[in-house]
Amino acid sequence: MKRCPQCQKENSSTANHCMYCSDPLVVGEDLSAEAKLQKEINEAKETIRLHRKQIFELEYINNKTLQDTNKYQQKLIWYEK
Ligand SMILES: [Zn+2]
Repeated sequence: MKRCPQCQKENSSTANHCMYCSDPLVVGEDLSAEAKLQKEINEAKETIRLHRKQIFELEYINNKTLQDTNKYQQKLIWYEK
């Protein structure tokens, strides 16, 4: 038997979709693969964010007009998001 992750009702072990709410009956392996992929995406996003922040900091060091404290802080807040 497969338990529907959405409505928690029991379905046939051969069913691909819940017969009660028609949601897909995802097996454990697929779910963890999806979670793993999501984790990789989040890590990649974090890497990109850190690189963008580093680029901005380098631009700041090399650009005297950016060295207005308020402007810098505003930009930094944006990159921290
Ligand atoms: Zn269901």
